[in-house]
Amino acid sequence: MKDFDIDSLVRPNILALSPYSTARDECDKTLGIFLDANESPWPSGWNRYPDPHQKVLKSRISEVKGVPAANIFVGNGSDEAIDVLMRVFCEPGRDNIVAICPSYGMYTVAAQINNVEVREVDLDEEFGLRADAMLEACDSNTKQMLVCSPNNPSGNAFSTSELLGLAARFNGLLVVDEAYTDFSDEPSLRWEACTAPNIVVLQTLSKAWGMAALRLGLCFATERVIGLMSSVKYPYNINAAAQKLALEQLERDITGEVSEIRSERVRLAGILPEFGFVRRVYRSDANFILVKVDDPDGLYAHLLEDGIIVRNRNKVRGCAGCLRITVGLKAENEKLIESLERYEKGRIC
Ligand SMILES: *Cc1c(COP(=O)(O)O)cnc(C)c1O
Repeated sequence: MKDFDIDSLVRPNILALSPYSTARDECDKTLGIFLDANESPWPSGWNRYPDPHQKVLKSRISEVKGVPAANIFVGNGSDEAIDVLMRVFCEPGRDNIVAICPSYGMYTVAAQINNVEVREVDLDEEFGLRADAMLEACDSNTKQMLVCSPNNPSGNAFSTSELLGLAARFNGLLVVDEAYTDFSDEPSLRWEACTAPNIVVLQTLSKAWGMAALRLGLCFATERVIGLMSSVKYPYNINAAAQKLALEQLERDITGEVSEIRSERVRLAGILPEFGFVRRVYRSDANFILVKVDDPDGLYAHLLEDGIIVRNRNKVRGCAGCLRITVGLKAENEKLIESLERYEKGRIC
């Protein structure tokens, strides 16, 4: 691992920050008479402020993910983690980030909100990473590279060796968004992120864990990076209801659900190419499949008529002709296939 001073990448105002300390930071008592935070004394069940450090939740996530709690940041969705990373490392109006294209739109939105330039580097024809082109796009103000793996919307995962090779050649932070890692055979980089100074891994409880409504994003990084992110986040970023309900959900065993989605993905990927209007079914390591078809807008409208909503990616650079279809329950996927059969018949007549 290279000698790397992460603090040299951090905005000076963030390095100088003395974070807001909450009333309860000074004592960690859970029993007593709390007259410190101007809360209501009437027990509604929700009258006390939540734990700003999410200690109990983080210790459960630590067990589930096999990563020390000190290497975990919990955000109000991955969106918050992406925004906090932007605010820790990127000086508005000066710094830039490098992102792949096509990929998740939130990186660009977060950068634009923070007045940070985005340098997009196209993936190759097969949605492969062009590491040399990404490094060539960098200058001395490039603070982060954002790589989504498995990538949304293409669905493919990049190899560990490619990603580690990229991090080794980059003098900034490599952020790997593993939102779909549970559906992939490619191993997670979250353990590397705990020790490698310039690798950060994002995950989420929104997808395989089925908690999209609770808004919980995870970030794995060195203790130093986690500390910086924690000093920038809102103190009570994860509300008490989300912490409580997530703890309950994290007791579930999701392996059956994940393996059924994976087998449905394989089944769909086998059936889709049989339709005459399907030009290409891209390899997926996620819970969705990108499909290139003859008339994406027409097919999209047809599915919508049947009450089936997919994501039209036709207008996205690199995705011309493509729809992105989430793998649903077996019965839902059957309805999709029936609708596609009706569409094919209608085109032949
Ligand atoms: C769905 C998704 C997420 C999850 O975002 P949350 O804010 O945690 O719900 C993150 N990254 C990518 C690429 C996604 O597709």
